[in-house]
Amino acid sequence: MRRFEYLRAASIEEAIARLGDDSGAQLLAGGTNLVDLMKYDVATPTTIIDINDLPLREIGQTANGGLRIGALVTNAEVACHAAVESHYPLLASAILAGASAQLRNAATVAGNLMQRTRCAYFYDVATACNKRMPGSGCPARDGLNRNHAILGASNACVATHPSDMCVALAAIEATVIVKGPEGTRAISLAEFHRLPGETPQQDTILRHDEIVLGIELPPTPEAPRYSYLKIRDRLSYAFALVSAAVLLAIDDGVISMAQVALGGVAHKPWRNTAAEVLLVGRTASRGNFDQFASILLSPAVALSDNGYKIELARRTVVRALEQAASRTPQLQSDKRIH
Ligand code: SF4
Repeated sequence: MRRFEYLRAASIEEAIARLGDDSGAQLLAGGTNLVDLMKYDVATPTTIIDINDLPLREIGQTANGGLRIGALVTNAEVACHAAVESHYPLLASAILAGASAQLRNAATVAGNLMQRTRCAYFYDVATACNKRMPGSGCPARDGLNRNHAILGASNACVATHPSDMCVALAAIEATVIVKGPEGTRAISLAEFHRLPGETPQQDTILRHDEIVLGIELPPTPEAPRYSYLKIRDRLSYAFALVSAAVLLAIDDGVISMAQVALGGVAHKPWRNTAAEVLLVGRTASRGNFDQFASILLSPAVALSDNGYKIELARRTVVRALEQAASRTPQLQSDKRIH
């Protein structure tokens, strides 16, 4: 058994100070990922800083009419909040597409942002893995890589980010609010998660002595056109092979705004804002959606077993755009694909 110190932080400042004092310390919120990682001996913290007493459980309006969601609000509370259901149904839909009811009741916003890849080699301490042990190698490159990345990967790591929530947040253009010894800073969701490069052990740009306070969502009109389309091996309790989060605005049949993020395909939620601009001013037609999806997937590179993801992602984007345009999003309440 590995010994570790347990501390229940009484304030945000105490949590930050203890992180700064101990490079092996890790924060515990819902524990739905960290406890698993500890059981597998993948995470070996010297100190667990339990932050469940911190005042980070509020959902409220921001000064500009957006929504602020505290780091410790559970995934279930976010998905069922009236303001999220009415103004950010894409976020509610993505959360409900993930995990199980029990996990959503325990998992938190911050934990979802910080969850680690589900690459099987990462969880198996008997194998090499650059993310777990930098410099040891990446067996997934030439091994079991059916679920791995087709976009933005590197020689060092081809893992994917597992979150559904973060894919919706990328499309919504959320901001992550973090605090460290030097104060508070706001990081766009697009910048928060990293591509692997030569340092796949770093999933995000969060510094070790910083703590996530919450997320902020920009003001959004009520009942936007949206869809979160998640394709997986089974219809519940499975990570995405590919997912697409779409927000659309259409005036007189012409697209005035398109924000599209892909999940299950890269080390972070994947967006191409330059391609999205090409949709603006065009009609919401199958042909235009096809063209957009082809541009989005044009940099994709297949490994030995995941080439199917390129065409699957292309079709998923087109279908999600069609669902958003026709106001027939994939429903998560019964887990059937509509
Ligand atoms: Fe490790 Fe990344 Fe390679 Fe998986 S893909 S074995 S997480 S380095």
